[in-house]
Amino acid sequence: MCGVIGIYDYEEVIAKTYTAILTLQHRGQDSAGILTYNGRFHLKKGNGLVRDIFDHRNIARLKGHISIAHTRYPTVGEGSVEDAQPFWINYPYGIAGAHNGNLTNFFELKQELFEKSHKIINSNCDVEAILSIFTEHLEKFRSKELTPDIIFNAVRYVYRKVKGSYSVVIYIADKGMLAFRDPFGLRPLLFGINRDKLIPSFAFASESVTLDVLGFKDIKDLKPGSAIFIDKNRKVHEKKISNKPHRPCIFEYIYFARPDSYLNKINVYKSRVELGKKLAKKIKKIKLPIDVIVPVPDSARAAAIEIARILNIKYREGLVKNRYIGRTFIMPGDTLRKESINYKLNPIADVFKNKNVLIVDDSIVRGNTSRSIIQMVRDTGAKKIYFASYSAPLKNPCIYGIDMQTRGEFIATNSTPEQIANKIGADKVIYQDVKDMQEAVREQNKEIKSFCKACFTGIYPTGDVSKHMLEQIEEEREYMSKHLNLTLNK
Ligand code: 5GP
Ligand code: SF4
Ligand code: MG
Repeated sequence: MCGVIGIYDYEEVIAKTYTAILTLQHRGQDSAGILTYNGRFHLKKGNGLVRDIFDHRNIARLKGHISIAHTRYPTVGEGSVEDAQPFWINYPYGIAGAHNGNLTNFFELKQELFEKSHKIINSNCDVEAILSIFTEHLEKFRSKELTPDIIFNAVRYVYRKVKGSYSVVIYIADKGMLAFRDPFGLRPLLFGINRDKLIPSFAFASESVTLDVLGFKDIKDLKPGSAIFIDKNRKVHEKKISNKPHRPCIFEYIYFARPDSYLNKINVYKSRVELGKKLAKKIKKIKLPIDVIVPVPDSARAAAIEIARILNIKYREGLVKNRYIGRTFIMPGDTLRKESINYKLNPIADVFKNKNVLIVDDSIVRGNTSRSIIQMVRDTGAKKIYFASYSAPLKNPCIYGIDMQTRGEFIATNSTPEQIANKIGADKVIYQDVKDMQEAVREQNKEIKSFCKACFTGIYPTGDVSKHMLEQIEEEREYMSKHLNLTLNK
């Protein structure tokens, strides 16, 4: 998962872009980049947090009215600065882009581009492949005026060639800004227009919060399999190109996105309240002697409050988070992840001592977080510790951009809730059912018939995922995480 932004303004855009990129820091803390355009591209990218990468010097150099920005969460790629986005290439047009998602046929594309078109994909970054495929189509029209139709046909060509998930923002020098979502709309992408001034300005972003903060009022989601092109005269062209069913990633609502965002007309916070409501009904049936309900901050708070309200049990914030440590899951490599959980959370002994507690979290992935939390809560003198996850058991690799790509990584693979409880040291583990999980998120937008929930069910909506492909991805993943561990532990 990453954060992507494109701004098409009428005045110097760097201040807005910097504000915007900060709103998407939670989508990736591995690297970030901003590219601007004023007759030439200016680019600054680096590893780490936004606030550490940009300073007065490089901000002063990022001139222009047009920008593309990105925060990266590592999926494919070795975490090097060369693989950070945005990317630009020079032929057949000056063209720059960034994307959020993960291509499942990246290595095939890389090979094909080299063998058939003698193009080298220099990085391990998906967007370089997308740009190369996109321009392969444009090349045929170099002598012609670049019309919206030609551009949309190039997107159609991308859809034919590129598999996986991708929400893309591209700027074609002096021609215009283009954004598109993959055919299934797996990853989010929103579009805003600001007409407050004489000249309208436009922006694309992975989450609505970015457009809110920039003052955009007129905000909408790009439809799955559709593209929006703003030409050099600021005319907006929109086209639905593919008619696949919409299958947005359910994990955005469970964990990833900010609670104040609206994605696919669904507010993330409200969906977490609904998830809590459904889970409360299940817990009620089990009739556990719970004295106090405590969320794992921050994502589980909304659901835990709702569970406590429905069960009429005391809600307490018994785990305190150190805000200055990044998101644990985002830490590449298991060693770093395990270490940072312990610095990150600390229990308030009085909340737990001699009590039966229900701890609520959004998910259990590897079980590192829950195991350490349960241990620290036991140490305070709690009696029974029940652990509830408002998402279903995670068992399958995500091939669409979330860093949990091998089956061996999941505590729930081949284990029952009882066995999981045993492994993490809980007296009981309660999971949301898959059906309830989906219905809770669908509640606000029934037009979405189904979500991608492949990491829970093993059913991949793009339909092109073979067992062999999963094994290959797992192998690559294992290799990369070992490699990342080595480099980061130095
Ligand atoms: P575990 O320690 O079980 O591997 O991780 C579960 C915890 O990681 C949960 O508290 C969840 O909030 C957090 N988390 C952070 N990022 C992600 C992510 O991308 N996916 C999932 N499933 N959990 C994440
Ligand atoms: Fe989201 Fe899971 Fe689907 Fe990945 S597999 S896109 S995390 S729902
Ligand atoms: Mg968490």
